[in-house]
Amino acid sequence: MKQDPRLKIVEKNMMPGEISNSGFLGNDERKLVDILLDDGQAVTALQMNHQILANRMEDLTEKGRQGFGNPILVDGFLEVIVEDSRGTIACPFQHKGMYPKENVRVTNRNTGESISWTALNIHMIREHGFYEGKGSPFRVEPLDLIRILEIKG
Ligand SMILES: [Zn+2]
Repeated sequence: MKQDPRLKIVEKNMMPGEISNSGFLGNDERKLVDILLDDGQAVTALQMNHQILANRMEDLTEKGRQGFGNPILVDGFLEVIVEDSRGTIACPFQHKGMYPKENVRVTNRNTGESISWTALNIHMIREHGFYEGKGSPFRVEPLDLIRILEIKG
């Protein structure tokens, strides 16, 4: 799809070494506009939206913080560990404000599957519908997220 010139600037911010060492796009060769469209379609195909997912991530993060690095059991089956890795990171979509670099790891005790994210992931999913490119170390695969957290629409 044709890409808005503003997304070109965002795409440049997402390259390795601009805002983060590893960048946000991994080895994904799609244009940013197509990454956004594809993930958006994957989420809406399951009758979900970015807000539902971001809200659940936010809720688990807040509960997990109470463990101060130790696991917290949420809803009887989700084990949440929030590790503060110090420092903050900016949004590549050029928002003001900085997001803490804490790492949130959630394990579904019923299935043994885990998924991780950061505060910036939550912001980018909520505000931009952006889950990062394929192969990016901080990509949050939306279908994994829905399955592992057992999010219902
Ligand atoms: Zn933003």
